[in-house]
Amino acid sequence: MRYEDYIGNLARLAVELVNTGTADHLTGVDAALLTEHAVTRPTPTELAPLLLQLRPAVAAVADATDPAPVNRLLRTYPPRLRISTHDGHPHLHHAPNGETPIPWLGRSCAAALAHITCGAPELRIGRCQATPCPHFFVDQSRNHSRRFCSNTCASRTTVAAHRARRTHNP
Ligand SMILES: [Zn+2]
Ligand SMILES: [Zn+2]
Repeated sequence: MRYEDYIGNLARLAVELVNTGTADHLTGVDAALLTEHAVTRPTPTELAPLLLQLRPAVAAVADATDPAPVNRLLRTYPPRLRISTHDGHPHLHHAPNGETPIPWLGRSCAAALAHITCGAPELRIGRCQATPCPHFFVDQSRNHSRRFCSNTCASRTTVAAHRARRTHNP
């Protein structure tokens, strides 16, 4: 797996936790990241203190503002770098397999957000442009042109723009 994809997966996991405020609805790659690394799902009560730091950190990366919230996250959940080969390919882990979920998520998400803040790999976290959608998304497209968190928000906005045009130009 390319490092860019690995960081992208961790960033998408961070964004998903912030968007939904829970680990209960994680599916696909997000859920697989936990099972592959022998990490259980945190309960909402366990997740709450992490979200308090994760939300401003994701927002700081999305808005390219002062990275202090990312540094706070790194301080609370310092990444522990280690090379793992459990999937057959050497890749960096930022937390030990089987760790309790909150420190594992904290370290892994902090590392991913720190990497993105510093421009390596070239990923972008954005805010959904559909109003009033509060969601973030990870943009891994080549020209960083993604604007919406989901197809639903994209088509909703397209329809609204179309209606607005028809109203103004009957
Ligand atoms: Zn791994
Ligand atoms: Zn949206």
